[in-house]
Amino acid sequence: MIYKRSSALFADAERVIPGGVNSPVRAFKGVGGTPIFVKEAKGAYLYDEDGNRLIDYINSWGPMILGHAFEPVVNAVIEKAKKGTSFGMPTEIETKIAELAISMVPNVDKIRFVNSGTEACMSAVRLARGYSGKDKIIKFAGCYHGHSDSFLIQAGSGAVTFGTPNSPGVTQGTAMDTLLARYNDLDNVKELIIANQSEIAAIIIEPVAGNMGCIPPKDGFLNGLRDLCDENDILLIFDEVMTGFRLAKGGVQELMGVDADIVCFGKVIGGGLPVGAFAARNEIMNHLAPLGPVYQAGTLSGNPLAMAAGLAMLTELNQDNQVFKRLEEKTAYLQDGIAKALNTNNVLHTINRVGSMISVHFDKDPVIDFETAAKGNNETFKTFFHGLLAEGVYIAPSAFETWFITDALTYKDLDETIAAIEKIAKTL
Ligand SMILES: *Cc1c(COP(=O)(O)O)cnc(C)c1O
Repeated sequence: MIYKRSSALFADAERVIPGGVNSPVRAFKGVGGTPIFVKEAKGAYLYDEDGNRLIDYINSWGPMILGHAFEPVVNAVIEKAKKGTSFGMPTEIETKIAELAISMVPNVDKIRFVNSGTEACMSAVRLARGYSGKDKIIKFAGCYHGHSDSFLIQAGSGAVTFGTPNSPGVTQGTAMDTLLARYNDLDNVKELIIANQSEIAAIIIEPVAGNMGCIPPKDGFLNGLRDLCDENDILLIFDEVMTGFRLAKGGVQELMGVDADIVCFGKVIGGGLPVGAFAARNEIMNHLAPLGPVYQAGTLSGNPLAMAAGLAMLTELNQDNQVFKRLEEKTAYLQDGIAKALNTNNVLHTINRVGSMISVHFDKDPVIDFETAAKGNNETFKTFFHGLLAEGVYIAPSAFETWFITDALTYKDLDETIAAIEKIAKTL
């Protein structure tokens, strides 16, 4: 495939946008080469600026779960846009999507809409702190909760100490309030709780991790966290920005039968427009301004176009009782195909999958946390990525990303993808 025009557009972009992109992972730093510029997309396919058709396994990093330019969503946005695009005043559609979201998600009474997953997680943590009167939070290495300061933290020197900033601009003071634990390691969480008795407001977690590849929680891990939170008066925050409205109508809370205290959403809930949200029971949500003292606001929060897209998306997911089953079956089919292709060619690998989240790691050992995810062979991944791209299959340009399956994929698309992988596996 030829990427002449994409390369030229990237050069133009680099002159006026840092690194040529408005979000770093798009820049292909993890795989080398220059990013592909999209012209348009429909269903399961991207069409790039050089006229290539790509089967898309990113799907805007999750939102396009029913495919690109999904008609009910597009039409809802067009109709709304004709009537004004923003008012900064309440509109009925905000209540409609709130009612629907709350009816789909277990254990929540109220929901507040924001503009991104980052905002949702940042606000959820503020709410947890305001509600509990405590400052510290526990997060897990390898989990991503957006780019706000409290989350850009890496492991400090000692296992039971506070974290250190992993980006310049994050202050040491902020880092001191974020404790870092190993995913799937309940004992590690216990140690942190004991060392910081009565200081921890919340534990925030991707209940199925998706930002270090897909990593399922071990049996009993989420329940164990729930118990630890109850015993120590800590709020459990599920960051379901990726898993929400993807793994089940009610997300991981429903799928795995574990209740969180605050749940964060993004991605699918906005149908491809900039939307995030966080939700909880009344006793917690009523602490939020203007009802309570915890401040949180947004000029464009609940924007009518965004709400129209989100409402159309959730309505579709709510009506279609087979959609999550279909997504899972397609992803399992893909998993089988990938495994066969890699096994036949003796390529060391581990595939993790939960529902329609799947990731391929080029290491033979189980991938259960950030450390084991980081062990994968990145050179093999790069070859795999560029090989797939040359065959017209677009996966995320980083070994730490989950593939996002869309229901727009047909079995013919999946077979084409598997055939491409069979071809590339011979070169790995
Ligand atoms: C994508 C993501 C975020 C951040 O959402 P943005 O909309 O990019 O700010 C937060 N948490 C998780 C789990 C995510 O996957």
